[in-house]
Amino acid sequence: MNELSAATAQLAPEQITRVLFEGFAPAAVALFYCIGFAAIGAFLWGCYVQVRKYRRGQPVPDLLDGLAARFWQMVATVLTHRTVERRDPAAGRAHRLIFFGFALLFVGTSIITLQEDILDALFGIKFWYGDFYLWFSLVLDLAGVALIVGLVYMMVRRGWIRPPKLDYARPDRQPGDSDYDRSAYRREDWAFLWTLVIIGLTGFVLEAARLVWLQDRPGVWSTRAWAPVGAALAEAMRAGGLPAEAAGTLRAGLWWFHGLLALVFIALVPRTKVKHIFTAMGSLMFRDPLAAQRLPKLAEEATKAGAPVGYARITDLTWKHLLNLDACTKCGKCHEACPARAGGAPLSPRDLILSLREHSRRTLESNLVGGAGGASELDIHGGKPGQVSNETLWSCRTCMACVEICPVAVEHVPIIVQMRRKLVEGGEMDPLLQKTLQTIHKSGNSFGESKRKRGGWTKALAFPVKDARKEPVDVLWFVGDYASFDPRNQKVTQTFARLLHAAGVDFGILYDAESNAGNDVRRVGEEGLYEHLAESNVAALGAAGFQRIVTTDPHSFNTIRNEYPQFGGRYRIDHYTSFLVELVAQGRLQLSGRLAYRTTYHDPCHLGRFNKEFDAPRDLLRRTGCELIEMPRSRDNSFCCGAGGGRIWIPDPVGKEKPAQIRIREAAQIEGLELFVVACPKDLTMFEDAVKTTGNEGKIVVKELLELLEECAVRDRAPQEAVVH
Ligand code: SF4
Ligand code: SF4
Repeated sequence: MNELSAATAQLAPEQITRVLFEGFAPAAVALFYCIGFAAIGAFLWGCYVQVRKYRRGQPVPDLLDGLAARFWQMVATVLTHRTVERRDPAAGRAHRLIFFGFALLFVGTSIITLQEDILDALFGIKFWYGDFYLWFSLVLDLAGVALIVGLVYMMVRRGWIRPPKLDYARPDRQPGDSDYDRSAYRREDWAFLWTLVIIGLTGFVLEAARLVWLQDRPGVWSTRAWAPVGAALAEAMRAGGLPAEAAGTLRAGLWWFHGLLALVFIALVPRTKVKHIFTAMGSLMFRDPLAAQRLPKLAEEATKAGAPVGYARITDLTWKHLLNLDACTKCGKCHEACPARAGGAPLSPRDLILSLREHSRRTLESNLVGGAGGASELDIHGGKPGQVSNETLWSCRTCMACVEICPVAVEHVPIIVQMRRKLVEGGEMDPLLQKTLQTIHKSGNSFGESKRKRGGWTKALAFPVKDARKEPVDVLWFVGDYASFDPRNQKVTQTFARLLHAAGVDFGILYDAESNAGNDVRRVGEEGLYEHLAESNVAALGAAGFQRIVTTDPHSFNTIRNEYPQFGGRYRIDHYTSFLVELVAQGRLQLSGRLAYRTTYHDPCHLGRFNKEFDAPRDLLRRTGCELIEMPRSRDNSFCCGAGGGRIWIPDPVGKEKPAQIRIREAAQIEGLELFVVACPKDLTMFEDAVKTTGNEGKIVVKELLELLEECAVRDRAPQEAVVH
């Protein structure tokens, strides 16, 4: 660089720059500008069509609140690439190279345009020379390298590594169906990669040809080290005997090819996958961190009078959900994580989003909403191209695995539930599900038991459980349906009562004033019944005196914590695991640590993924002395038991593997595993069944964490007898 400094020191700074249109006739330059303006016009028109499409969706209330904070959060997510890297770090790193390479090259091109076409043309201001130009040149050279390296890795990944999530095989259609074939997506992916690679490579060759062409001009050859890749290619050209004149001809031809390809690329941005650059940023900016945990009330949906319940037509989607459809990059992470898809159900969250996207493009991008087919074309339910079948919608377990992993904040679960609302309204559901909903409506619980029997499990205890409606308590225990009525779970419920009693906790329950919390009813799409249940529970809780709520049921925990505030019910609520960790810290619950089972722990979706409680159950399990071996899928990547979203009330199709069976087989891979530990009543039911149906009876035992805690609870407190049973 010292030699270089000496060489550049001889030059005036203005001599250190790059020629742009030198060698082109004025007519050619004019033609280039005309094509450039046409490309920008096509880009702007395409943007207009997209924005018009989103505006054909429904409004979203309060979305503009905290816009600045949303913006910076989006910027941080994009710059760190943290969502892109998750569970696929190599692809994430490659995408980062592509993103930053592309962004820097775009900024570089914009800087040239700013000087040449605006500042210099209008005001005679020049800055693109001297040291600024040299650094500019170096940064853009490195950016080009980053771009090409990232793109080449993506090509290798698609062409040779071929992860199954990128094969676009769709489970919701049969081969031979008119819309089964998604090879067009593959072609688009390859066209995207090749176009950018060619733009990048021709940029380097163009630079090299310019260096050779103008090698004798002061400030060109002597500064080549600031464009190391172009310089290396130029050296090779010279070594190959390329004369300066021929290099000039090559440069002129490549200049047109490179420039026109870049302009076509720009023009097509709004119509190709390239637009995810913008739609993904928009989707991330308007991300709802509680999208799956807190579903929208009916009143919060479309404000148009007479709007249908749920999503029946593509125009019923909010503009944000329409934007979500276009933000999808087809990365397949949701497809890979989906337990329904893994079990062979006709559902892939990615394909559902792509179907709706195809539908929105066909019907909402033309001048007339619905295109030539009019309003009937807008229906999104059914088996036609772009529509989603009932079977697909009912396959969802609302486990949130898709929403949680999506790098661009697509909200699959709210979209699915909104579509289910329309099905429920029309009675298009499994007869058993319909019957269960009627049962809940009539009796307030899914077991069809009399309300009076809700507290029946307390009778087997050696102490009374307070009625929180009659006397104030410190802790109100919201028990939930499964923990109240299912005989196996009742035993666990009694265990928790004994632990609370032994710890001296002043607790009580609502007895027959408690109703099904409604979490799963809401996710089925029966919003009317959900509102009835939520209002009834909020009223019952309002009539009781307590400081805080605790529950053993993650489903009740989720809806009371995240959704009851929509109905005026704001409470301090804990799942039993975090509550017991507190008791342990206070010395009110002492664990001997004498157990030595080899265990694994299953994170319930509604506790882990939904409410980010991963540590408390593990903390308690370790305190029992048990050895904890994690399954490959754990914590936020935990695999669903299959009970959520009302699926526990719908018979699983015969011949298909159930998510709980897949999970037990995963656990069975752990050598010497003795206990499969859960912290959810529905998990207990689902996994005990799966142990039997997978032939693991006698090999793996499913235990509620509470049962292990009681097994090693130290019995030295006053109400000690209560723990002994
Ligand atoms: S919520 Fe779960 S089951 Fe439903 S589509 Fe998403 S990943 Fe699949
Ligand atoms: S919805 Fe999200 S996770 Fe699924 S394929 Fe699209 S971008 Fe990937």
